[in-house]
Amino acid sequence: MTEILNFIDGAFVPPIAWRRLDNVEPATGKVYGTVPDSDAEDVEAAVRAAERAFPAWARLPAEERARFLLALADRIDAAREELARAESVDTGKPLALARSLDIPRASSNLRFFATAAIHFHSESHSTGERALNYTLRRPRGVAGVIAPWNLPLYLLTWKIAPALATGNTVVAKPTELAPMTAFLLARLCKESGLPHGVLNIVHGRGARAGAALVAHPRVPAISFTGGTVTGSAIASATAPLFKKVALEMGGKNPNIVFADADLDAAVATSLKAGFTNQGEICLAGSRLFVEEKIFDAFVDRFVAGAKQLVVGDPLEERTDQGALISAAHRDKVLGYLDVARQEGGRILCGGGAPESIASARCRDGFFVAPTVIAGLAPSSRVNREEIFGPVVTVTPFKTEEEVIAWANGTEYGLAASLFTTHLGRAHRVAERLASGTVWVNCWLLRDLRVPFGGMKRSGVGREGGEEALRFFTEPKNVCVQMDTGGRDA
Ligand code: NAD
Repeated sequence: MTEILNFIDGAFVPPIAWRRLDNVEPATGKVYGTVPDSDAEDVEAAVRAAERAFPAWARLPAEERARFLLALADRIDAAREELARAESVDTGKPLALARSLDIPRASSNLRFFATAAIHFHSESHSTGERALNYTLRRPRGVAGVIAPWNLPLYLLTWKIAPALATGNTVVAKPTELAPMTAFLLARLCKESGLPHGVLNIVHGRGARAGAALVAHPRVPAISFTGGTVTGSAIASATAPLFKKVALEMGGKNPNIVFADADLDAAVATSLKAGFTNQGEICLAGSRLFVEEKIFDAFVDRFVAGAKQLVVGDPLEERTDQGALISAAHRDKVLGYLDVARQEGGRILCGGGAPESIASARCRDGFFVAPTVIAGLAPSSRVNREEIFGPVVTVTPFKTEEEVIAWANGTEYGLAASLFTTHLGRAHRVAERLASGTVWVNCWLLRDLRVPFGGMKRSGVGREGGEEALRFFTEPKNVCVQMDTGGRDA
């Protein structure tokens, strides 16, 4: 049993009120540790520590801050196996995925923003001979960072890295459902000599610790990734306080396959888009639209591929799909399968818990078989609401016009993929899709410099590259008059 502790002012501390939550391993359904159920008092202690650390950290040259962050990235790489295993046990995701995606991306995030901040520049505007304007960008102060459970360390470091690199200090509230790698990250911060109070990690529930951080009057910036309902609560809580808020939220992403696409590649990529990480990815291509001419051929191959995915013990190398994060989430996903049946959907594969899981230790885990559903209207609930599980709907379309309307017909607008070999169509359709990211003939191909985020109910603001550096800094324009009106200055 691992007892996770908060990390405040460089020290590991229990929650002040001594309340704790169980930490469950999704693949077994068993409690294997506890996590602090922190409250406003713990958040206050962390904010105080971050405030104390802020002046010295903000004053450091960007190169010095980068040195600390690069050292931390090296420690993450050195601990890759331990972190990957912890992430797999804590979330139910395959160890192989944690090893190849989550943990390498965590160290990349730190390296990327540590060095990006060195190159970060501000603007100057010359007003003819009258004046020169230049823009200073200063860190905002104590930044609040809140992350979800599907990519715990990946998304936590995606926010911590730009905040710290630009000179803010941070109070982070990781997910209570998968807190282990945040705890291990704190250990690595200590080992790598990060100054006390620069990064503080307060564990606990969203409604208690998260809400206290969001409402804290001396935390001027909140960067949140999670569900849209939570994002809405955070927007309401922060609006009267005029905080700077970045919200990365849910998605219901279309994946459009035209008849001229490279079929093998489109099938393989669509399987990844639908089922990687058990479909628990905000960017998952959960609505597959296939041009009518190739619909049957495509769906046959897609379903055959889904059936071949090995669902099982996340720690086994051959596992493609592990367990969902919790019993409650598994039940939510299964509930949507009932809705699909009520809405007239035909289940082409999956449709419930897998018949058996080879590993005996996983008998009580939270598994759902990869599921493909046909026959649902684009306006059905299952096609509009985020399920966040291994569930993909397939719908035939006739025209570009029709599929663009369906693709854009949800309240979300995070990401879209389209598959075609027609260059003009690729650009034309990409231009008309209402989503923050459009992938052409690919999915989840990420360049950390590009703006990342969602339209509509998928997000407010953008992360990535300079967008993140700008979010975590306050611009101040200085206007220097040069024209002294004939008088010598
Ligand atoms: P969630 O909204 O339940 O929780 C996210 C985080 O917010 C957790 O740390 C939680 O404790 C905290 N939280 C909950 N209520 C809070 C409150 N009232 N005040 C402050 N903090 C609060 O989301 P989740 O279930 O952990 O994650 C799944 C969701 O995240 C999905 O909707 C998914 O699409 C979304 N997501 C979005 C992106 C993106 O980049 N857009 C990436 C990953 C996940």
